[in-house]
Amino acid sequence: MEEIVDEVLISEKKLQARIKELGEKITTHYNQDDEIVMVCILRGGFLFMADLAREVKLPVVLDFMDVTSYEGGTTTTGDVRIIKDLEESIEHKHVLIAEDIIDTGLTLKHIIKVLETRNPKSINICTLLDKPERRTEKEVEVTWNGFEIPNKFVVGYGLDFQEKYRNIPYIFVPKPELYKK
Ligand code: 5GP
Ligand code: MG
Ligand code: MG
Repeated sequence: MEEIVDEVLISEKKLQARIKELGEKITTHYNQDDEIVMVCILRGGFLFMADLAREVKLPVVLDFMDVTSYEGGTTTTGDVRIIKDLEESIEHKHVLIAEDIIDTGLTLKHIIKVLETRNPKSINICTLLDKPERRTEKEVEVTWNGFEIPNKFVVGYGLDFQEKYRNIPYIFVPKPELYKK
């Protein structure tokens, strides 16, 4: 699959080392008896949450939510829709959102607005990647951030190009030819 990779932005080794650090920060932030629901935003966050959850040494509940904001292209439409909601009640619980990437921040802003109406004890965001350049306003307050990256479209480790390549274990910038296929 290397023929589609223009540049490896974050190697598998760097990802895993950073996720371990994030797990340690999260573990010390909460108390052992806190009720925590870790929320994975599908589909991009699935690998990140799987790896992060194993580095969080707390009895967390894992739940999943699926939303759309991108409709197959590479830029945001600002239109966010919940496709799959949480199964768990988050009332009086600590919510920890595991997100793949924050681009404009519009998706998370919408998700947080919805979750806040359910009266959680707290909401914290842990994002693997952040593109700060793309934020016109401070849309969301990120608690933990894995890597700040430049304003490039990235793929791999959960992130797709037209639903493909989520299974590649590192983050890369695809070759421009990929868009022409
Ligand atoms: P936002 O609402 O913050 O602009 O975008 C949020 C979602 O768009 C992310 O959770 C991710 O699913 C998708 N997205 C944003 N930037 C990228 C990117 O560079 N590559 C890929 N594959 N998806 C992205
Ligand atoms: Mg996402
Ligand atoms: Mg996508």
